[in-house]
Amino acid sequence: MKSNNPHNIGSLTNYQRSLTKGHIVDSSIKSHGIFLSFSPLDPEFSPGHHIVDNFSNCFSFNLVNKREENQNKLRSQELDKMVLHCSSDPLSALVVTDASIKNDIAISISHIHSFNRPIVKTVHHASFVTSMEAELFAIRCGINQACSIDNFSKIVIVTDSIHVAKRIFDCDSHPYQIHSATILSELCSFFLSHESNTIEFWECPSKLRWRFHYDANKDSKSFSVSPSYPSKTSWDFCKKSDCDKLTKLWKMTFQASDGKGNQFLDLLDDDLNVIEPSYSKGGPWLQAFGHSNSLCARAVRAITNHTPIGEYRLRFFPNMDFECPCNNYPIETRRHILHECRRFNGYWNPRRDMLSHFVMFLTANPNAFAFTNN
Ligand SMILES: [Zn+2]
Repeated sequence: MKSNNPHNIGSLTNYQRSLTKGHIVDSSIKSHGIFLSFSPLDPEFSPGHHIVDNFSNCFSFNLVNKREENQNKLRSQELDKMVLHCSSDPLSALVVTDASIKNDIAISISHIHSFNRPIVKTVHHASFVTSMEAELFAIRCGINQACSIDNFSKIVIVTDSIHVAKRIFDCDSHPYQIHSATILSELCSFFLSHESNTIEFWECPSKLRWRFHYDANKDSKSFSVSPSYPSKTSWDFCKKSDCDKLTKLWKMTFQASDGKGNQFLDLLDDDLNVIEPSYSKGGPWLQAFGHSNSLCARAVRAITNHTPIGEYRLRFFPNMDFECPCNNYPIETRRHILHECRRFNGYWNPRRDMLSHFVMFLTANPNAFAFTNN
């Protein structure tokens, strides 16, 4: 954590050091200690109290239709229409939430509008929490504020992190239970106070730059807060920083050729960057070809160059035949197969160093890097 903290003594410039008066204590050593995240025995999670069972008609999610071609434009129109509805209804509260993280300080923002006018803005900051926690906290504040204003009967939450909002209704153990429990208890009272009270969660990706959300987003980035020490760290943040450290080490080991082997085929992503290991969604390679066992087997053989071709036989069984069956090349190498050999031309593209094109090549040439009888 020391090295990540921009405020630790080691990161001070000589000029900053010369300005420092009195004793200096490295505050990052004081930022340990984890704050409580779990609340599995909370009454909101006990059987019979689940909000999904008792008030299933009172809340709903309005998601982006990802199958739609014009999804961004369409979404902005839907959001505009929803605002129009809300602003003509005095009982509706529009709550727009966002969060951002700068120098390990998270800013959670919620803006509440009624009748098309801003009525409440809340800003909170916290050190050493993850963006998911900050987003959920912004939603929690928005709901809390909206519920505390007497006459609203419909609350509309607009967020770019709809997956976070869904966690509110997740009764399994997860690191945001403390927030979920508070929100659920607030919502239960809200639904009980009048039978027509409802809440809607609207997904609004930040890339839409939809005006209300864009304002909240701009606000969340405009604050510059210095961390006040000692501060505690959330359980999820500890997990994340450990994970980041491990991934860094993993990438370093992988880049050194002895980690991945000399024969490893470096492939590029769609932005032409060399693909690096990652644990998310099974890693970048398996995402591209993990759906088919045979494709995956051939891809792994080709990438590791551990495959039934002449180049491999020349290395391990030099007495065997290693010439390419096309009779145009003395050694059947991986490079030759991928880029030149006329036996494999089902799919042609000069960029077979890109993972996506590499997979297309393998799909179009089912015999490439496969064990065949001939
Ligand atoms: Zn050939």
